[in-house]
Amino acid sequence: MAQLIKKIIVTGVTGQDGSYMVDYLLKNTPHRVYGVIRRTSKPDFSNLSGAIENPSFKLVTADLSDSASLDHIVNKIKPDYFINLAAQSFVKASWDIPEQTFDVGATGVLRCLEAVRKHAPNCRFYNAGSSEEYGDVICAPQDETHPLRPRSPYGAGKAAARHIVKVYRESYKLYAVQGLLFNHESERRGHEFVTRKITLGVARIAKSLSQGQHFEPIELGNIDSKRDWSHAEDFVDGIWKMLNQESPKEYVLSSNETHTIREFIEKAFAAAGIEGYWLKAQSPEDERYVLRSEFSAVDEIDLIRINPIFYRPAEVDLLLGNSNKARQELGWTPQISFDGLVKRMVDSDLKAANVAPYGS
Ligand code: NDP
Ligand code: GDP
Repeated sequence: MAQLIKKIIVTGVTGQDGSYMVDYLLKNTPHRVYGVIRRTSKPDFSNLSGAIENPSFKLVTADLSDSASLDHIVNKIKPDYFINLAAQSFVKASWDIPEQTFDVGATGVLRCLEAVRKHAPNCRFYNAGSSEEYGDVICAPQDETHPLRPRSPYGAGKAAARHIVKVYRESYKLYAVQGLLFNHESERRGHEFVTRKITLGVARIAKSLSQGQHFEPIELGNIDSKRDWSHAEDFVDGIWKMLNQESPKEYVLSSNETHTIREFIEKAFAAAGIEGYWLKAQSPEDERYVLRSEFSAVDEIDLIRINPIFYRPAEVDLLLGNSNKARQELGWTPQISFDGLVKRMVDSDLKAANVAPYGS
């Protein structure tokens, strides 16, 4: 029997997760996908190159800070699903623009829920929750029962959103859930996040080395924090599964492994065929990661240097998820390992810089 064609609104489609979600839905379902973009002076659809010509995909304009625009699209489309992946998603920036981050991350979710409640009460709603809600963690690994102890305006906004999603689920019997997603990265990750900053820097250095040119090191902040990193492609599958259960339940999605930024650095340089080693110092700010001598006539050329401007007013030191419940109850299995993630990101940035791994 032919599958019923449903209507799905996805926000944040110019970003990492939204664009992977659109690709996933167009590939795996017959449904019509409405990608929400906001008005910008210079739109960038580069993450949507695989979707833009697809007849099942349509762009619509709305903004999470504007309830009338959300009301309008939900009333007009009457969606069966509303997947909210829009936010000011960079934690560090949330101290610089706290009000805007909190407004979009928390009140923006309330605006979406109100539009759904009024115009499409049978619509299934997903909001992008974050391990940043756990913040100052009290145990590891963290599962669905860990308390919310956010450490940033970003994390506090996501925690507030979690409460309002629960309130709407219970008050209005909406199918509304907020996943608890640990860090996920990809070739489409924003350039200021640490993983992408490293892989872009590695590609730049690999190019300079291949041309025998001088290069500046990558400057980073706290390289001892630990993150549970996965590939975003695996997570959009988990989100879709969370939306298609019998009753609305919220789950952790994570790799169940944690790694320091240092480990990411070492693996990323190795994936580009470049080897370095750490030069410890009295103060953590003076520590350096330098090039092994066989790569250069000059000794101890810096690959990584610490710059305190990248430290945060408050840090989340350790994130390590336990996604066993999602694996058992949703049948969700991530496919891409930590090594696979680093390799994919480095390969992609090397390719864009038109350079091969060193020595290949
Ligand atoms: P990105 O920063 O890559 O994408 C964010 C998207 O939100 C962009 O398309 C952006 O549009 C859009 N957006 C921002 N503000 C508004 C607004 N006011 N109205 C409409 N659209 C807006 O983030 P990710 O794809 O990585 O993350 C997706 C969601 O998942 C976010 O909510 C994020 O906080 C959350 N999350 C992400 C994690 C991760 O590790 N990636 C971990 C846990 C949660 P524009 O291009 O116009 O700026
Ligand atoms: P987050 O986990 O969502 O905050 O993702 P990020 O990629 O922005 O940061 C991950 C970790 O890397 C945090 O503990 C940061 O403090 C640390 N980090 C160290 N140096 C940098 C840097 O230069 N940029 C970013 N974005 N993070 C850094």
